[in-house]
Amino acid sequence: MPEKPRILTGDTPTGRLHLGHWVGSLERRVALQDQYDCYFLLANMHAFTTRFDKPADIRQDTLEIVKDWLAAGIDPQRSTIVLQTEVPAIAELTWFFAMLLSFNDVMGNPTLVHELETKGLKDSYSFGFPMYTVGQCADILAFRPTLVPVGEDQAPHIEMCRKAARKFNQLYGGVSNRANDDDHVAQGGVFPVPKALIGRVGRLPGVGDGSAKMSKSLNNAIFLSDAPKDVQKKINKITTGRQSPTEPGDPSNVLFKFVEAFIPDPARVAELKDRYARGDNLGDGHVKAEVADAINTLLEPMRARRAEFDSPAGDAHVLDIIKAGVKRANATAEETLYLAKKAMRLDFGRRTLA
Ligand code: ATP
Ligand code: MG
Repeated sequence: MPEKPRILTGDTPTGRLHLGHWVGSLERRVALQDQYDCYFLLANMHAFTTRFDKPADIRQDTLEIVKDWLAAGIDPQRSTIVLQTEVPAIAELTWFFAMLLSFNDVMGNPTLVHELETKGLKDSYSFGFPMYTVGQCADILAFRPTLVPVGEDQAPHIEMCRKAARKFNQLYGGVSNRANDDDHVAQGGVFPVPKALIGRVGRLPGVGDGSAKMSKSLNNAIFLSDAPKDVQKKINKITTGRQSPTEPGDPSNVLFKFVEAFIPDPARVAELKDRYARGDNLGDGHVKAEVADAINTLLEPMRARRAEFDSPAGDAHVLDIIKAGVKRANATAEETLYLAKKAMRLDFGRRTLA
């Protein structure tokens, strides 16, 4: 077993990172870098499930996400950056897990069903789109982590991953069907049964009426790299239906989701909620200005760090970081693949990646 417990999580390069990523997962990743052996994955293969016609965009977004990570405080010395398409063990493990999960496990996955609707894919999605959920089991298990920090929308995916790990360990590792999840490795299983670690805010709504989650693909996101005036403009797009500063408001509406997520002083949050609920001359515009200020304070140091990478030399530096990460990632993933194949009686020699 590794010395430190491991974390695996990641993002799909379908755009830059937004505030939902920060509160849902990224903030935790930054905080846990010392306690855990961290792997952060760029799901660039999965970006092709919906953007197979835009390879140049996927490449650019891959670099942008690494820049967002560095800006947010991910340290590539301490944490390993994993580029999915350069780690062949992930694709191979995907096949094995595809055999252990049923068609209905995949097609009934509530997050997948929801994505097919909200991303307008209903009758036109590729065969590869549902496959990404199985691929994600392999992304995770290739690194044998115990913890996966993610937003709420990922919970069904992590459940699928746990199911695949249990089934693999029981079938090929001799683990009892009655074993506790935490005992799988001690009983001879290849994979720990990993747990989801849902962020401080599991589901940040997008700017708008609050019905959709903030998402790169839904045009409702405030990006970590947005300029201060764009943050204010986007916050102004939040709609609550409230008419005047003296109308009693609902302090759990979409605007207050942002108040709770981004105004750091709990006493100030409580005061705003109280005045809002009583209609104590507190307009939505005032609350929005305060929220935008708080967000800009959070983002300012990230913008400054990001500026260091916004040049051709910055791109070259990011590519070097990716290359170094790939090397470390392959060392771990190849070991996992070897252990998995051995358990499956597929040990016909141990391969080395030159
Ligand atoms: P896409 O629209 O392409 O699916 P996305 O905005 O949903 O992009 P992902 O790359 O799918 O972003 O998600 C990366 C991580 O961020 C996941 O752990 C996910 O749960 C988390 N996350 C994404 N959006 C939010 C949100 N609005 N609130 C909390 N966590 C989120
Ligand atoms: Mg998503």
